[in-house]
Amino acid sequence: MKNINYQKKVQLACYTTIKVGGFAEYFSKPKNIEEFVNLIKWSHFNNQECRIIGAGSNLLINNIFLKGITICTKKMRSIKINSDTGIVEAEAGVMLPTMSNLLAKNGLQGGEWTVGIPGTVGGAIYMNAGSGNLSFAKNLLSVQVINTKTLEIFEIQKKDLNFKYRFSPFQDNNLLIISSKMLFQPNGNIEKLLETTKKNLKKKTETQPYDLPSFGSVFKNPTNNYAGKLIEELGLKGFTIGDAEISTMHGNFIVNNSSANSKDIFDLITVIQQKVLQKKGILLQPEVRMMGFDYP
Ligand SMILES: Cc1cc2nc3c(=O)[nH]c(=O)nc-3n(C[C@H](O)[C@H](O)[C@H](O)COP(=O)(O)OP(=O)(O)OC[C@H]3O[C@@H](n4cnc5c(N)ncnc54)[C@H](O)[C@@H]3O)c2cc1C
Repeated sequence: MKNINYQKKVQLACYTTIKVGGFAEYFSKPKNIEEFVNLIKWSHFNNQECRIIGAGSNLLINNIFLKGITICTKKMRSIKINSDTGIVEAEAGVMLPTMSNLLAKNGLQGGEWTVGIPGTVGGAIYMNAGSGNLSFAKNLLSVQVINTKTLEIFEIQKKDLNFKYRFSPFQDNNLLIISSKMLFQPNGNIEKLLETTKKNLKKKTETQPYDLPSFGSVFKNPTNNYAGKLIEELGLKGFTIGDAEISTMHGNFIVNNSSANSKDIFDLITVIQQKVLQKKGILLQPEVRMMGFDYP
């Protein structure tokens, strides 16, 4: 098979924002769609398990040896912006802060809120990333995918995808995201868009611990409540296991103070769940995705 490039036994900690993770048996960073598809085909025909990492900003990877291939999409970062129609085509690895700034510079409205999310377009679709009432699915038109079982490549329209709060059907199917088409609103007021984008980033960095490794919100907000508020009410901010700490700045963030490992973090997640369940009667569901655990 052409264009197959991978490394063996690669440490994954540096491919996650929480800076934790074991080793991948095989690891690759395809530069374009062709290389990505060839890697998927290679894993299929060689019966190798295949995992995808975007920017690793919502991921807890266990400190184990992960058999099979781990593919990081971060180099698949081609993006086409049509400032007249508002249609944007982006490969899975395009970073949201990059896209957000480009949208503003091109006079397109609707992506200003994504500037502070350190993930890729693929990861944002998979997670249906969001903020307040806004979610990534809103501006989506279609997603180009590959089926890992049949190797078929096709486009799915947004109307055929059932997105929910921090949920996309990709969490439950065999489809990997290759690229997507989105629609933003031509607005023209570039200065205003740039200013809003800048303000949004400032607000996020002032209210969330951007200076320390984390994976963003650990838990989904329960209906009509906030996970961070529940954790804070129990006085858990600052609680540590090893070098993993519940952020003193934001109750729904766990930060890695320097040498936390996946067990410290997993245990901290479990302790929070137990305490919130005991005291508040609510079982918090992790938003963060787990790799190499029995958890999804
Ligand atoms: C400081 C900070 C702030 C954050 N703020 C927010 C926020 O405001 N709102 C929010 O929703 N999230 C936030 N997050 C979490 C995170 O950035 C988002 O969930 C983001 O969308 C994850 O994208 P990623 O590329 O990093 O995905 P990863 O963490 O790499 O992967 C997440 C999941 O998506 C899957 N995946 C990734 N790419 C693909 C693909 N191409 N095809 C199929 N599956 C794929 C992975 O297998 C994994 O299961 C924040 C994180 C940090 C560290």
